[in-house]
Amino acid sequence: MAKAAEYIRGNQYLFNNTVIGLEEVAEGKFLIQFEKQFELKAGHVVAVAVDQSHDPRIYSVCSGEKDEYMQIIFDLKEDGLLTPQLSKLKIGDSFFVSKPYGSFMPDTEMPMWWIATGTGIAPFYAMMRSGYRAEKLLHGGREADLFYFDREFKSALKENYIRCSTGNDGMGDFFGRVTSYLDKEDQLPKHNKYYLCGRALMVVEVRDLLISKGIPYENIISEIFF
Ligand SMILES: Cc1cc2nc3c(=O)[nH]c(=O)nc-3n(C[C@H](O)[C@H](O)[C@H](O)COP(=O)(O)OP(=O)(O)OC[C@H]3O[C@@H](n4cnc5c(N)ncnc54)[C@H](O)[C@@H]3O)c2cc1C
Repeated sequence: MAKAAEYIRGNQYLFNNTVIGLEEVAEGKFLIQFEKQFELKAGHVVAVAVDQSHDPRIYSVCSGEKDEYMQIIFDLKEDGLLTPQLSKLKIGDSFFVSKPYGSFMPDTEMPMWWIATGTGIAPFYAMMRSGYRAEKLLHGGREADLFYFDREFKSALKENYIRCSTGNDGMGDFFGRVTSYLDKEDQLPKHNKYYLCGRALMVVEVRDLLISKGIPYENIISEIFF
């Protein structure tokens, strides 16, 4: 269990951690596993840094509350500050990770719809592995290898797990974006919570679409990867 913070910047406290696994799961997409040093709640994020020379970046945790390790999935930004360094780490290397925190927490009272694109699937994987279930999960991506964890989602959510594919490999369950899927739905349930996670453009577009279809603003919960 972790001890004193090893890296402090402003009000951010990060702790020395060790890489226990690193895999390129698709081109430029990496899954990195590390020690679980603190209690985790599904939906939490962590701040991550490779060394003390730069500001930490934030990542949604994509492992379950009871898993013995923690992991994040990230997009390599070739010209970014952290992800090129993160992608070169090896098992046994040290880096810095904060305590998990955040407010993107699953609802236990109302049925949930989970809507993600790309690595935005991370918090929903954490929720699913922690025993939460969505009434529907929409995951947008181009090709088959970008539907991370699809076997596990399929097994847990059955036909309520919908891969919205914009690629030409015919691997999705629905051809088109998550917004096209939602647009085609005549009657979206109004007494559900809608959880959106991914890049800002997608989150804003989906939020506006849901509101235009009568979903109350307060039933829409967003986590934006900026
Ligand atoms: C709540 C939250 C959760 C997140 N979870 C995830 C996650 O699970 N997975 C994930 O992959 N990402 C996630 N992110 C995004 C993540 O925090 C980083 O922003 C991302 O990984 C890029 O980091 P980087 O240091 O490699 O790139 P950065 O150095 O931040 O650069 C990102 C891009 O911006 C460009 N850029 C940088 N500075 C400028 C500038 N001044 N002007 C113009 N362009 C510039 C860079 O060239 C690069 O293309 C999350 C973000 C938030 C807020």
